[in-house]
Parts: sequence; C-alpha cells; structure tokens
Amino acid sequence: MKSLKLITATLALALCATAPYANAEDKGVVGISMPTKSSSRWISDGQSMVDAFKAKGYQADLQYAEDEVPNQIAQIENLITKGVKILVVAPIDGTTLSNTLSKAQARGIKVISYDRLIRGTKDVDYYATFDNFGVGAMMADSVVKSLDLNNRKTPANAEIFAGSADDNNAHVVYDGMLSVIKPYMDNGKLVVRSKQLAFDKVATFRWDGATAQARMDNLLSAYYGNAHVDAVLSPYDGISVGIISSLKGVGYGTAQQPMPVITGQDAEIPSVKAIIRGDQKTTVFKDTRELAKATVEMADAVLNKKTVPVNDTKTYNNGVKVVPTYLLKPVLVDSGNWKTTLVASGYYKEAQLK
Ligand code: BGC
Repeated sequence: MKSLKLITATLALALCATAPYANAEDKGVVGISMPTKSSSRWISDGQSMVDAFKAKGYQADLQYAEDEVPNQIAQIENLITKGVKILVVAPIDGTTLSNTLSKAQARGIKVISYDRLIRGTKDVDYYATFDNFGVGAMMADSVVKSLDLNNRKTPANAEIFAGSADDNNAHVVYDGMLSVIKPYMDNGKLVVRSKQLAFDKVATFRWDGATAQARMDNLLSAYYGNAHVDAVLSPYDGISVGIISSLKGVGYGTAQQPMPVITGQDAEIPSVKAIIRGDQKTTVFKDTRELAKATVEMADAVLNKKTVPVNDTKTYNNGVKVVPTYLLKPVLVDSGNWKTTLVASGYYKEAQLK
C-alpha cells in the first residue's frame, strides 16, 4: 500500500516536472513575482497583470514573497523550473537576484523588472515603472506650496523619511524630493531640526510603517520639545500612517497643534481617507492598472519578437547596464482632486473612501 502511494506520488511529481502547465492556454504561462501582499498596491498590480495577460491569451502564475528575499528567490527558481515563457519581477531587494536570473537567461527566459529596478545583473531585459524622480519632486513640491515657502517670513520645520535602502526607487524618490527642497534648506526657509538628512539616516527598512512610527516618536521627543513640526516628507502611505499615529500620540491634530503637511505615495485607501479627513496633505497616485497594461504589452512584444515599447533608454542604470524602460506619469492627489483622479478613473468607488 505504502509503496503504491509512493509510486503514485512520484508519478504525480514526474508529470508535474514535465508538464506543470498542462492546462495552459495556447500562448503558455508567464511568471509574476511580487514582493508582498501587505500593501494593497501590489495586490492590485498582480491582479491587473493576471487579467491583462489573460486578455491576451496567456495564463499567469502569480507569486507573493511576503517581503522575504529567500521566498522570492525560491519562488522565481520554481517558476523557471516549471517553464514559464517570461518573468515579471518586482524585487524585494534589488540586488539579490543575479544568480537566479542567470538561470532564467540560460533557459532563454527574458526578464522584465516591474516597478522596482533589478540591480547588479545583465540578466534583466526591460523595465516598466513610474517616473520615480518625478514622484519625489511632486511630494516636495506639495510641501513647498502648502507651506508657501516662497513667501513665508518665518522658517518652517520639516523632517524627512525615505524608503528601503535595498529598493532603487527609494533612492530615486529621495533624490527627486531633495532636488526640490534643497534650495529652501539652503536659504533657511526649511529647517530639519534633527539634522537627519543623509539617505542612510532617513531610510526605512522594507518601507515599514511601524519602523517609521518609532523613528518619528524619537524625532518628536528629541528635537521638538516646544517646537512644531510643519512638514513631514514621507515617501509612502504606509509610512505616513505610522508618522500620523506618532504625531497624534503627542497631541497633534488640534486647532492649537495642527497636523504638519504630510506627503505619501500609492493612494492607498486609509491614506486617501486621511487626506479627506485632513490628517495627510497629499499622496502620489500611480495607476497600477496602467503599469500592468504597459508591462503586459512589453511581455507580449518580447514573446512575439516585435518592437518592445520603451520611452527611456538613459535613466535606469542598474550598475551593469542601462535597462530600456517604459516610464509612466504619476499624479499628485490631494483633498481637491481625489474624486476626479481616483474615483472618475474607476480606481476606487467613492463609497470605499468614506
Ligand atoms: C514603489 C512604491 C511603494 C513602495 C513600498 C516602491 O518600490 O515604487 O509605489 O510605495 O515600493 O511598497
């Protein structure tokens, strides 16, 4: 009995190894590796890609690695073994996939870097993302305008947060931010009381909200005794949630102690609600449906040996090569335009934001 079970299991495994996607539609299976389900944007990215690939006759094998690098490596290796036609990867740590992707290359599987740049390898063929420098610049611009820094008589206090150091986007967004606010720091209109400015001082590992909250707690207690923080440049809505909790914990959010201007990214539902409530000033909307669509167009072109749509062949150097990129435009969202951007485009229903 035991041996029969074993034979059946072995047979099943063998079949699986040779024809894992036996029921796949004609055009075959594409492999998608996403970083985590802990942020709604990646769930939306994954689902939009599955749908868009399906519409073109492909089947998608979608994996989430829960922000653990070994999981992501194992999942991608598994997709390669199962024989996907192409890989779409949003890396957790942009530098950890070189060995894995050389295995894909050896099997002729092309790789599209999704939203985040895969670094340090030649084995990445294309990149689809939003203009990350523009994202950072937009955030900072919203602070300049909200605090009226060009006409303001007294200096304003601001603190800065960045994303995860292992994510290339975190650096590019930070550079975009700094490009706009540096002149105001230089002319004394914007003061960072903590003097924590360098990327490594302001980075937030894995873009984690709780980590940001703890840092904000420290900043407030160490540098803001009687002083008021007027702006917090936050690179991601999940981080903004942590910052807001910290501020509320010490009494911000009243007429005497108003909330600072707080930025964000991704237009996640709790943060859009915070914008409507007045706790957060802006977020940056990156329509994940559009990014998914652009990526699927790229993949389809690669697989059919057609010209692959790219619009930037200069900006995204991954340390080994400049990766041909398709760049999309982000949109700044605030209390004045959330309906015309997020609701009118069908990204959210108005009821979800109430
Ligand atoms: C993405 C952002 C996202 C962040 C955290 C970045 O790489 O570009 O949209 O907010 O990761 O998930």
